[in-house]
Amino acid sequence: MDYLIKAMAFDDHARIYFVSCKDALNTIGDRLSYYPSALAAVGRVMSTTLMMGAMLKLEETVTVKVEGNGPIGLILAEADAHGNVRTYCSNPHCHFEYGELNKLNVKATVGDSGFINVIKDLKLKEPFIGMTPIINGELAEDFAYYFNVSEQVPSVVSLGVLVDTDGRCLTSGGFIIQLLPNTPDEIIDEIENKMKSFPTMSDLLTSDLNGEDIIKMISKDARILETMDVNFKCKCSKERFENGLITLGKKELTEILEVDKTAHTVCHFCGNEYDFTEDDLKALIERCTK
Ligand SMILES: [Zn+2]
Repeated sequence: MDYLIKAMAFDDHARIYFVSCKDALNTIGDRLSYYPSALAAVGRVMSTTLMMGAMLKLEETVTVKVEGNGPIGLILAEADAHGNVRTYCSNPHCHFEYGELNKLNVKATVGDSGFINVIKDLKLKEPFIGMTPIINGELAEDFAYYFNVSEQVPSVVSLGVLVDTDGRCLTSGGFIIQLLPNTPDEIIDEIENKMKSFPTMSDLLTSDLNGEDIIKMISKDARILETMDVNFKCKCSKERFENGLITLGKKELTEILEVDKTAHTVCHFCGNEYDFTEDDLKALIERCTK
């Protein structure tokens, strides 16, 4: 069961977000047969985007695009404030390991240069857009850099994904600590010192600790504000694909009808398939305005 926790900590000078999203990641991994390190990369972006979603209010949404120079290509994730997420990547069929460590190599998958783009729909006239370069490629450091530089919120980001030998995700999750304005120096020092010797996300995820335990480990005085379910949820529908086909125009649709007779479409986010019969296509051509 996937979940996300929001907490106040360090004498109410910091917020902590924790997420566990193994099932959401396996949903996409199973449907689109992801290779292990591609799954790990997308899992890290999924975790971060879910936690960014939890920083939003009501109907606001966030889209995160990681555009590195690695073989996975574009990684895209969208989340809302209620624990719903969907993800996409250009090439789920790439896989790299660190030779001797037998560890998934996210950096080789994502690349070590490029950009992270964050677009927040805050239901205002213009969306909020933030961008920072990829500085590492393992993603946790890259997202911490994004928060620190683009949003100017001092943040610690820890992410981890473990993939089993059968290619399925065993566990995926992470935490973000964000300082509130005017945090006293001694608290900043306390957090920095704590993080120096804090276990990695991979170690935490393989332990018996749950999210609440990990939050209490970060800060003994942490207060849980909210716990919510996390779900992979796609916005696709046959209707959306119909509209997409209509935009191709009468000429192109007629060509599809004459050559292929039918149309087969696949959602890049969730892998759902939508088929259009000869009659469907004829009806769509009727609806074309150009
Ligand atoms: Zn879909």
